[in-house]
Amino acid sequence: MSQGKSAIITGSTSGIGLGIAEAFAASGMNVMLNGFGDATVIDDIKAQIAAKFGVKTAYHPADMSKPNEIADLTAAAAANFGQIDVVVNNAGIQHVSPIEEFPIDEWDAIIAINLSSAFHLSRLTFGGMKARRWGRIINLASAHGLVASPFKSAYVAAKHGVLGLTKTVALEGAEHGVTCNAICPGYVKTPLVEKQIPDTAKARGITEDEVIRNVLLAAQPTKKFVTTEDIGALAVFLCSDAASSITGASLPIDGGWTAQ
Ligand code: NAD
Repeated sequence: MSQGKSAIITGSTSGIGLGIAEAFAASGMNVMLNGFGDATVIDDIKAQIAAKFGVKTAYHPADMSKPNEIADLTAAAAANFGQIDVVVNNAGIQHVSPIEEFPIDEWDAIIAINLSSAFHLSRLTFGGMKARRWGRIINLASAHGLVASPFKSAYVAAKHGVLGLTKTVALEGAEHGVTCNAICPGYVKTPLVEKQIPDTAKARGITEDEVIRNVLLAAQPTKKFVTTEDIGALAVFLCSDAASSITGASLPIDGGWTAQ
């Protein structure tokens, strides 16, 4: 049961992470929020989730590219909630560019935020879960953890790496009640996707409408965006006892994209 458990969700001031935080709170979990944004807006999100669902909420501004700040986030969650039962490694960024022009600092930032942060937070929280013989680590990978698209070298490399990390942590937790799985969404219309539409248009030499129709949704046989609510519901299920034998899995939620 999720009731009374405590979770850290990285990158939960927006998009998918916020959707997961709300779904977790609705299932009775205390949630530690993290991510960037306007302080007043974040305060409101924190207060509204607590009031609506009657759970404890907290926020820590750790930059997930910085291991020392990830340690501070972990300590703050433990101080607020007593223990950390669930970790969702969700924070992520994107950069779209042909490989020969791909900025080195963007490569480094994507690997740090989209891949290494999941290692750091899992490393810091796994021991407690193992000692208590219950834990859930959920990594937000992507359909781009399973297949590639051009102009997304760093993102695709990071997300494939996340699947390798997921399988390894799953094996290490298997006999200790700790599961680790990756959720692999197709396109969800969050700020991360909205921002890459103009860049993709530029890289491919097409209009923004053509990007939505012929690039983004062309990949999804359902021809519709996945929603943050869909992903929140899957994450809640992965935290249930019914999901205790699901571990090391890469779960597409992509409207059939990777079935092709
Ligand atoms: P988003 O841009 O809406 O949200 C990203 C969140 O990460 C924000 O809260 C932001 O503040 C936070 N963040 C960014 N850099 C950070 C840093 N250095 N430290 C801490 N927090 C940081 O994006 P989203 O679409 O909700 O993406 C969430 C995750 O889902 C990402 O890992 C992304 O790769 C993955 N994903 C998204 C889609 C999609 O179509 N939107 C598809 C597949 C996978």
